[in-house]
Amino acid sequence: MLYNEDRPLSLDELRGHEINKQIFRSQLKNQKFGHAYLFAGHHGSGKTTVARIFGRAAVCEHPTENGPCMECEACKRFGSSIDFVEIDAASNTGVDAIRDKVIEAVKYKPAELKKKIILIDEVHMLSTSAFNALLKTVEEPPENVIIFLCTTELNKVPKTIVSRCQKFIFEGIPQNEIEDGVFDSAKKHGIDIEPDAVRLIAKIADGSMRDALSLLEQASSSGTVTESMVAEMTGYGSAIAVESILDGYVNADYDLMFQGVEEFLRTSSVNTLIEALMEKLIDRIVTHDGVDYIPLVNGLSEIKGKNVSQAAIKVVLYKVGCEESKIAALEKRVSELEEALKNGVVISSDSAEVVTEDVPSKVANEGVNDVSGAESEAKGTNTPDKDERSEDELLEALNAAGFSDVTVAEENPFEEPVEVPVVKEEKVVEKKKEPETKFPGFSSPWDW
Ligand SMILES: [Zn+2]
Repeated sequence: MLYNEDRPLSLDELRGHEINKQIFRSQLKNQKFGHAYLFAGHHGSGKTTVARIFGRAAVCEHPTENGPCMECEACKRFGSSIDFVEIDAASNTGVDAIRDKVIEAVKYKPAELKKKIILIDEVHMLSTSAFNALLKTVEEPPENVIIFLCTTELNKVPKTIVSRCQKFIFEGIPQNEIEDGVFDSAKKHGIDIEPDAVRLIAKIADGSMRDALSLLEQASSSGTVTESMVAEMTGYGSAIAVESILDGYVNADYDLMFQGVEEFLRTSSVNTLIEALMEKLIDRIVTHDGVDYIPLVNGLSEIKGKNVSQAAIKVVLYKVGCEESKIAALEKRVSELEEALKNGVVISSDSAEVVTEDVPSKVANEGVNDVSGAESEAKGTNTPDKDERSEDELLEALNAAGFSDVTVAEENPFEEPVEVPVVKEEKVVEKKKEPETKFPGFSSPWDW
């Protein structure tokens, strides 16, 4: 495995964790070790790697602040020595494993190395009785024993254990560091890889060097590693396609939706796409992003499990997209009107031929902040008098355009900016909260 082959053997080779490394270097330099360490955090970020560097450095004959020398007898024997005990708690959860492998081991003095090094990975997986058995050893470890506990789930480790260890948090490795790691590893092993593929691997690995190197290894088995190969192998292209479909829905962008459908269906079935969309929809609905996804949920529910064609799913998306686009168009008009009023210029709209010629100068005259002096001067007027007739006309016009309850601030226009008319989006809100349910039986997203 590439990850094991390229596992750092010194702190210099370890990527990320700069602050932790400073503390580790200080302890290594002074050869002052704690008796128990707890390394918690992101998976594949180097917790067991550091435990091994530390453990080996603690028994090395010529350690440096970066770790063991890797030359001396102790360094060479370390991995297979009886004084180095490594347990994967994920597969050894019970008290017996702790009793047999840890408690028994620490009873005796080190046989081959200066110290006994105990490393328990995924320690949160231990049973309660196993933790209880371990507690005494962590509390009062015999001399010449160093215990390293690693976990991705700190909250599952009993506080009694945590409080007796030096605790270090391992965050995900930054993407650029992972890119460097992937690049170096590819170079070292003669793997041909495109820069875009390196970037995508690092992105998908999401802080885990182990995941990144596993991906590199998997992708390299069939020649040059390309971005599209990585995308296909990991299903990343499909994930992006699903996002495109939903983004297209939100923005009433049919091209984007249909591109997403085509991209997804290159490698998967329509049923898989519907499942993937629904899964992602749940994510979006629970984040309350303000978009009405109910028409989409209803539309997908209608064809779910029916093994429909690509065309059928496009039709459904088109249909629900139309519903949503009406709302989007309305929202666009509202924001255009707001912007226009703010700027003192009302733009006429195709669907609402309601704007009178004198409105722009009228709004400008009321001292809207954004109107530049030059513009006011050009218009030749800047009178504070309120022209009630024009304001009424404006309100009337907006109401005629389909907006109700439009109000304009009463404050002195020279002291305060004119308040942007509040266009209550009651229709829109109602639409979002109580959408027309076209498909009885699927009125709620939880029904499917
Ligand atoms: Zn050494």
